[in-house]
Amino acid sequence: MQQRDKLYINGQWVAPSGPKTIDVINASTEEVMATIPEGDEKDADAAVAAARAAFDSWSALPPATRGDCLARIKEGLKARSEELAQVISGEVGMPLKLSAAIQVGSPIANFGYYAKLAREFTWEEVTGNSRIVREPVGVVACITPWNYPLHQIAAKVAAALAAGCTVVLKPSEVAPLNAFVLAEVIDAAGLPPGVFNLVTGTGPVIGEALVRHPEVDMVSFTGSTRAGKRISEVAAAGVKRVALELGGKSAAVILDDADLAAAVKGTVNACFLNSGQTCSAHTRMLVPESRYAEAAKLAAEAAQKFTVGDPFGGSAKLGPLISEAQRERVRGYIRTGMEEGAELLCGGPDAPADLPKGYYVKPTIFGRVRPDSTIAQEEIFGPVLSIITYRDEEEAVRIANGTPYGLAGGVWAGSDERAQKVARRLRTGQVDINGGAYNLFAPFGGYKQSGHGREMGVHGLEEFLETKSLQFRPDAPSLAPTAPY
Ligand code: NAD
Repeated sequence: MQQRDKLYINGQWVAPSGPKTIDVINASTEEVMATIPEGDEKDADAAVAAARAAFDSWSALPPATRGDCLARIKEGLKARSEELAQVISGEVGMPLKLSAAIQVGSPIANFGYYAKLAREFTWEEVTGNSRIVREPVGVVACITPWNYPLHQIAAKVAAALAAGCTVVLKPSEVAPLNAFVLAEVIDAAGLPPGVFNLVTGTGPVIGEALVRHPEVDMVSFTGSTRAGKRISEVAAAGVKRVALELGGKSAAVILDDADLAAAVKGTVNACFLNSGQTCSAHTRMLVPESRYAEAAKLAAEAAQKFTVGDPFGGSAKLGPLISEAQRERVRGYIRTGMEEGAELLCGGPDAPADLPKGYYVKPTIFGRVRPDSTIAQEEIFGPVLSIITYRDEEEAVRIANGTPYGLAGGVWAGSDERAQKVARRLRTGQVDINGGAYNLFAPFGGYKQSGHGREMGVHGLEEFLETKSLQFRPDAPSLAPTAPY
């Protein structure tokens, strides 16, 4: 068992202000795999003070120098990638091979991307008699969830550091161990003290202390819509910039001329990845009424291939859910679906018989789900797919847009042209066209209650920048830059 008893503040591993700790549970064995500090307001104060003190000199560095630091972090993560995959498969439960590719591969790619972007970004430009200068927003509190823990962290931290911000990270208390490895990597990469700080603890205590803190200029949050609303309220008192990446209830719209077999398979995959614990999971599959029977059969067959089992066993495609609370929540939704009259095509609320330990849930598909029913409206965050039928394209678009969320989605059609037309009508931040692959460097974020702001790529960097206009006299001899760019 690991014991993480220190926080990373001002370039040092320091004891937290109080004695409280939080257990980190292994999702497949249900055993305590580590303990971490349950930090409080005093720890938040110390971390923010360090980040504030480091801001002036970090933000004044040439962006290329910050890029060099990020490149060293990328190399450090790469060197520890096997260990990180083990840690994340333990705390989250994702099968090891997938963890290595996605949970560790994406953060490495993101640090590499922002290292390069820091060098190449257009930090200043001239328009008329003005020089437009992009400046870092200041001290950023990054608050992150557990489902893709290091990916969510890297999306924020790499972009914020490239922008010239200093950071206090508060990772999920449910899957925090990867963040400790990142802090060690950042320490070894030789960033100036205070540029990156790690505190741990619960959302309502240390999370809110950061959001409320007068020296925090921006809060970048990924997590549930419930917590996002609370963070917005608390941040409003200080008129802080807030970026929110929240929940989703994304639809895959399968049009009547689509390749049904490919569309159903693609949608089942996009729903069940990470045991359905993906904010952009395609959890609603919309099919024409005339093709329902065929789609239901194909979906149930595809689900059979999602073998559930030990994330370290090698053959499982679905690991356990993250926690007992999450498993019970998901089972509750499955029961609700049955009570509300949906057709249970496969799976169900009972635990898989051969897996007495671990928070496993069977991959579950419901057919003939009413668009306004609970399981079609609320984010379940488990391996549960709802098949909904529609009569025509208008109705399909209306159903797809008919939830409070707007994060992602997919459209499958006989041609990309037709799919794209429908995709443009979906009120969501991302739409996959005929199974189009996820692009790590395209902007990612939500419409409606899925949040606001965008992460990843150039948009992800701009999220952490202020814009200043320097107005020169029309007869000024030059608009020459003053910074070392
Ligand atoms: P959560 O909202 O419970 O917690 C997320 C983080 O916020 C944690 O670090 C938690 O400690 C902290 N927190 C909770 N309450 C807080 C408060 N009042 N003040 C400050 N911090 C607080 O979410 P979770 O269960 O960890 O993650 C799952 C959720 O995240 C799902 O809803 C999922 O859709 C969403 N998510 C969204 C995206 C996206 O990019 N849109 C990506 C991944 C996950």
